[in-house]
Amino acid sequence: MSNIIAIVGRPNVGKSTLFNRLTESRKAIVKEVSGVTRDRIYGRGEWCGVDFSVIDTGGYVQGSDDIFEDEIAKQVKIAIEEANVIIFMVDVMTGITDLDDAVVNILRKTKKKIFIGANKVDNTDRIGLSSEFWGLGLGDVYDLSAVNGSGTGELLDDIIKEFDQEDDTDLEEGLPRIAFVGRPNVGKSSMINALIGEDRNIVTNISGTTRDSINTRYNAYGFDFVIIDTAGIRKKAKVTEDIEYYSVLRSIRTIENSDVCVFMIDAQEGIQKQDLNIFYICEKNHKGVVVLVNKWDLIEKDHTTTKAFEEKIREQLAPFNNVPIIFTSALTKQRIHKALETTMEVYENRIRKIPTSVLNDVMQEVMEHNPPPSVKGKFIKIKFVSQLPTHAPAFAFFCNLPQYIRDDYKRFLENKLRENFDFEGVPIRIFFRKK
Ligand code: GDP
Ligand code: GDP
Repeated sequence: MSNIIAIVGRPNVGKSTLFNRLTESRKAIVKEVSGVTRDRIYGRGEWCGVDFSVIDTGGYVQGSDDIFEDEIAKQVKIAIEEANVIIFMVDVMTGITDLDDAVVNILRKTKKKIFIGANKVDNTDRIGLSSEFWGLGLGDVYDLSAVNGSGTGELLDDIIKEFDQEDDTDLEEGLPRIAFVGRPNVGKSSMINALIGEDRNIVTNISGTTRDSINTRYNAYGFDFVIIDTAGIRKKAKVTEDIEYYSVLRSIRTIENSDVCVFMIDAQEGIQKQDLNIFYICEKNHKGVVVLVNKWDLIEKDHTTTKAFEEKIREQLAPFNNVPIIFTSALTKQRIHKALETTMEVYENRIRKIPTSVLNDVMQEVMEHNPPPSVKGKFIKIKFVSQLPTHAPAFAFFCNLPQYIRDDYKRFLENKLRENFDFEGVPIRIFFRKK
């Protein structure tokens, strides 16, 4: 079950402005220059209680117009595969251009639902300019102003109707769903092979999954689990920088369909930008994470090497760095049993439910010793805490003045929760509610 929106279109129509409006990154700066390399390609948003992911295909476009066209085409194709619905952005001030047509030709080949965002309708004078886009016959046209937000509510109202609202209840229910994620060549397929051998441990191939993702149930090393395998892992490609960028796009659906992500990095290369993008997607989706520093056999070591590596990695992953880090080799099979065992532990941590009485016993004492600092002379009192019945750990703290609780106190509470209960490898959400 995943709700993924892809925003596609040529440069400068307003994709990243809309992306920022739909996601938590509203404060992010919109670059005035078109064609600059952008990193923000993925974000989470929420509308009427429905959570969704947004992919912005603006990233990684450089060079002249024909390179644009090539790159846009590639990104649009991948985004279409990954997404459930597509927003095709156009600019009412320019009308349909050749580059728009190039995108239209790709969009005609998909059966996925397309919403046309006719952007830059900033005022009533511009209403009516969008009529030519109806003629494309691709989908309904929504007048938008990404800059001032008008029209985005109507668009989202209709988009969330397209999402699959039901929980997935198939054969794999109750079994940990594991995704191996990471840049190309870090050793994902080697690791999967090392763990499960030559398909000897397959229990069933679970049907009903999408064309690009095959979920297979395994029993290995005494554990029962499902591996979410995707085209991104199986398809081999020559590695260049842009392919790494696309591999981030390709990992989105895999991550969303999993419970725990085994996040693999190459020990020789350390954590790079695209590694962080993948890690960020795991975190934003509240997935469990185990970090494998793979190809450890290739590193020359002395007694300080592991510790130094670990410290550096935790620094790079901050603030979400309460995660297991394991040094592995898919080649020599060093610590691969440990890797799988830890993955199972993180799965348990992610589904852990703390009884309300235990939670309050512990946290009331913490808050008595360290109450939230008062703000503008107002005294803040947290009366009660309970874990929410969500898939991933989330806690509600009920208090008199929720709006006055500062981020550093929220972090303090998260740290205390982690000190007292085992949530290693799992993002925790904390909410403050009025009581
Ligand atoms: P992208 O390349 O498609 O991601 O486009 P951007 O979001 O970077 O926007 C390109 C330019 O159009 C920027 O200068 C934006 O400020 C501007 N822009 C975006 N949305 C609107 C809008 O709704 N109205 C107006 N007037 N300008 C907009
Ligand atoms: P993927 O693209 O992430 O699936 O990576 P692969 O599993 O295809 O591995 C990429 C390359 O790294 C292959 O040549 C593997 O043999 C090699 N490789 C993978 N894991 C290890 C490891 O732990 N040690 C060494 N030395 N090589 C590895």
